Amino acid sequence: MREQLVTCTVCPLGCSITVKGEADKIESVEGFTCKRGEQYARDEFICPKRTLTTTVRLTGSTEPLLPVRSSAPVPKDLIPSCMKIIRGLSVAAPVSDHQVIVNDIAGTGAALVACREAKAV
Ligand code: SF4
Repeated sequence: MREQLVTCTVCPLGCSITVKGEADKIESVEGFTCKRGEQYARDEFICPKRTLTTTVRLTGSTEPLLPVRSSAPVPKDLIPSCMKIIRGLSVAAPVSDHQVIVNDIAGTGAALVACREAKAV
C-alpha cells in the first residue's frame, strides 16, 4: 500500500492530509478540514496536476523570451512532453495578452497562452 502526505493548497490553512491506497484505489483520506481539501488530496494521489508556467522564444520584439502558462492545470507526468514542445517553439511578435500559442498542448486539453503582450519592433 502506498501512503502519501499531501499539503492542501486550496486555501491558506495548508492542512496536512494523508492518503493511503494503491494506484487509483484510495483506501483512506485523513487530516482534511473540508470537502474541497479531501477532493484535492484524492486528485493529488491519483493524478496530480500543476499549472505550467515557463517562457518561449520570441522574435521581432525587444525581449528574447515570452512568459507563457497553461490555461488549466495539466497532469504532472505530461509536463516533460509539454516542455519538449515548448523548447521547439519560436513565437513572432506581435503577441497579445492571453493569446493562444499552442492548442491542447501534449494532449492535455489545456492551451498554452501568453502571459503578456509583446509588441513588434
Ligand atoms: S482541507 Fe480545506 S481547510 Fe484545509 S487547507 Fe484544504 S481547503 Fe483549506
